[in-house]
Amino acid sequence: MMMNGIHSAPVLPPMIDTHCHLDDHQFESDLEYVISASRTANVRRWVLIGYDPVRWSSAISLSASTDGMYHSLGVHPALASVWDDTVAQRLRQKLVESKAVAVGEAGLDFYRDNAPLDIQGPAFVGQLRIAAEIGLPLIIHMRDANADIIRILRSEATLPRLVFHSFDGSTEVMDFVIESQSWVGIGGLATRQKSSELREMLARVPSDRMLLETDSPYLVPAKQKDRRNQPSMVAVIATMMAEYLETTPEELARTTTANAEHLFGLPHD
Ligand SMILES: [Zn+2]
Repeated sequence: MMMNGIHSAPVLPPMIDTHCHLDDHQFESDLEYVISASRTANVRRWVLIGYDPVRWSSAISLSASTDGMYHSLGVHPALASVWDDTVAQRLRQKLVESKAVAVGEAGLDFYRDNAPLDIQGPAFVGQLRIAAEIGLPLIIHMRDANADIIRILRSEATLPRLVFHSFDGSTEVMDFVIESQSWVGIGGLATRQKSSELREMLARVPSDRMLLETDSPYLVPAKQKDRRNQPSMVAVIATMMAEYLETTPEELARTTTANAEHLFGLPHD
């Protein structure tokens, strides 16, 4: 069978895309097709990450109307300047009312021309505290922010369970991940040729802390013609990454699905 220009491997056990943006405009015209291609690859559940307050409502409706879709709500570090008490209040309320499975993505991103730490910091800390207070995991987005992330996390009295989405941190951040028993999202970035150091770090993650994700439509895995990433690629990521993680694609699919069910409180598939 041909799928997006690659020969797909035998179908793996049921998988979950724990981080995707299916409400992105890049899926506007063919979302049904994307969902059905995902189901065909046995990636049959998704966590939609609603990271922009103006899109929280549409993220909630999309997940409510799609069988197997769950959602997280938060404020992305690139949007941190919108953070204030009103947004915090609305976030807390929407998370509870809509039965979100996580908070985020939230964190720090100094890669692009984003706001400085005094703007991004309070939004991150505010979401950490909301997650801890209502008992949901927090999904962390971080880029070029290793030292600040560790400093903030170490200074919080109570931390929620943490997911380092598409992990791309330093050795020190990986030390923190392991020490704090946090979860790590493994996606397309790790499959790229230039990511050998990253793969070595990921091999340190205990198997019960690994999750699979695509970050669709971003971070397409290596060797794909289609530059738009999509959830069916979780199967490709599992196949490409298993050997580096000293396991098999089948076992990686099974373990990461069980991990996601446990972390996000999803029913057993
Ligand atoms: Zn994302």
